[in-house]
Amino acid sequence: MTKTKNKYDVLVIGGGAAGMMAAAAAAAEGCSVCILEKNEKLGKKLFITGKGRCNLTNACDTEELFPHVCSNARFLYSSFYTFGNFAVMDFFEKLGVPLKTERGGRVFPVSDHSSDIIRGLERELKRLDVDVRLHAKVKKLTAAPRPGAVLEDGSAVEAGAVIVATGGLSYPSTGSTGDGYQWARDMGHKVTDCLPSLVPLKIEEQTAAMLQGLSLKNVEIWVKDGKKELYRGFGEMLFTHFGVSGPLILSASPHCTSLLADGKKLRLYIDLKPAITRQQLDQRLIRELGGAPNKQIKNILGAVYPAKMVPVVLAMADMDPETFAHSVTKEQRGRIGEVTKAMAFTVTGTRGFEEAIITRGGIATGKVNPSTMESRLAENIYFAGEVLDLDAVTGGFNLQIAWSTGYLAGMSAAKKIKKINRQEKRHETCHCDRRTRGSGKKYHCKTGGKRVRIYIRGHRRHVPGYGTVFSPEGHRPRRHGVHDGLLQRGGY
Ligand SMILES: Cc1cc2nc3c(=O)[nH]c(=O)nc-3n(C[C@H](O)[C@H](O)[C@H](O)COP(=O)(O)OP(=O)(O)OC[C@H]3O[C@@H](n4cnc5c(N)ncnc54)[C@H](O)[C@@H]3O)c2cc1C
Repeated sequence: MTKTKNKYDVLVIGGGAAGMMAAAAAAAEGCSVCILEKNEKLGKKLFITGKGRCNLTNACDTEELFPHVCSNARFLYSSFYTFGNFAVMDFFEKLGVPLKTERGGRVFPVSDHSSDIIRGLERELKRLDVDVRLHAKVKKLTAAPRPGAVLEDGSAVEAGAVIVATGGLSYPSTGSTGDGYQWARDMGHKVTDCLPSLVPLKIEEQTAAMLQGLSLKNVEIWVKDGKKELYRGFGEMLFTHFGVSGPLILSASPHCTSLLADGKKLRLYIDLKPAITRQQLDQRLIRELGGAPNKQIKNILGAVYPAKMVPVVLAMADMDPETFAHSVTKEQRGRIGEVTKAMAFTVTGTRGFEEAIITRGGIATGKVNPSTMESRLAENIYFAGEVLDLDAVTGGFNLQIAWSTGYLAGMSAAKKIKKINRQEKRHETCHCDRRTRGSGKKYHCKTGGKRVRIYIRGHRRHVPGYGTVFSPEGHRPRRHGVHDGLLQRGGY
């Protein structure tokens, strides 16, 4: 029976985008690395990103990443400049995953399969000898005296450093159930309120439910809190049984989520015909109505609006759908124009985390070092990805945050652990009290409790604390000499 290893240089909790990248970065620095993932496979959320196509980053200028981040953009300065969007693209292309850039700079694998991104990462983890443990749910994180994790089955894993990459609260079915928040709180970190973001919106009026299933392309929307405009955008949206969804609505939601959580009601306006002016629309209505004066208006407007929209437009314009075209007044046409150019709804809230692309809020960034992702409160504990209070708009920016923070955490943890290991090795005091004549001789000497060989050079006798320690494996040292009674271990 093989015994499971329970000590690593770097332990990563969570095998999502941030965790896999952190593990690869740490292992590439030469550290022994283990990922603990509670699911039956790695990257469960990554698999469903971009509707299964994985919009893994954005090809904008690296500087342009910042304005797309909604919370704590400045915190990301080091991570975006250490491992930015072009580094991410390079990384995946080198892993044998060719990429393509689409509208709005959105980057996808050429295959349109998120599974290729996951497979690429898995290959890299295997090449770097990372231990991946699946079905490994971490129950407890220990920070002191040595970082480590206790699993649900009671087993423990120790490490030089632990990287927490457990994600947020969105789509809990993928494994992101906010486990990292409590561990962070236990270490003294503040966790800001978590809200669903990039999420569909609930509408008060029943008219929205009447339009359920209707998808609108090339519309303009804007959201207002009283007189203040919170968001304006152009694109696609969709009506559902509870309200509105689709890319445009998801993009609007980060601007509304906090206000809605505070119980505010907001107004959503839709311009159904943004390409034409009110006058041009009126001319169009005159033409359509004039072409069939004896038809009822409900049977004419189908040429101007999608069929499902006609009764809603007429109801909102306060018109009888059975009005004959010849009797429609200028004032009534004006009301139809008004509704068409600014169809108004009341937004009462967002849908829940089950439908949210991202979590707004998380571990407050103030007590996390942005240059390394290490906790300022618990040494050798690092955070990466959505577990932190970081979120961005759609377009590949959220995964970019996961890759960048994951890479920086992995690389920084590995560098620190390597340095600590080197220092521990170097500062082994010679406890030898043997005094021996002669130069160039090898003696056994107890150092740090181990028996190692001493090579005495340039001294007639071996004095305690002098000499060069050979490695226990007997490698020849490259350096020799001593300072302050501490032996230098050279040669490896
Ligand atoms: C439907 C959907 C589509 C999306 N599309 C895109 C897109 O196209 N582009 C984009 O940029 N972003 C997209 N996102 C957002 C993106 O997926 C996230 O920002 C990103 O996955 C966050 O990565 P993460 O590694 O921090 O967290 P996660 O991917 O959530 O990974 C966390 C991992 O930790 C594991 N874990 C949690 N607790 C424990 C524990 N106690 N023990 C062991 N393991 C644990 C979980 O099982 C999980 O695998 C999308 C999100 C969703 C929900």
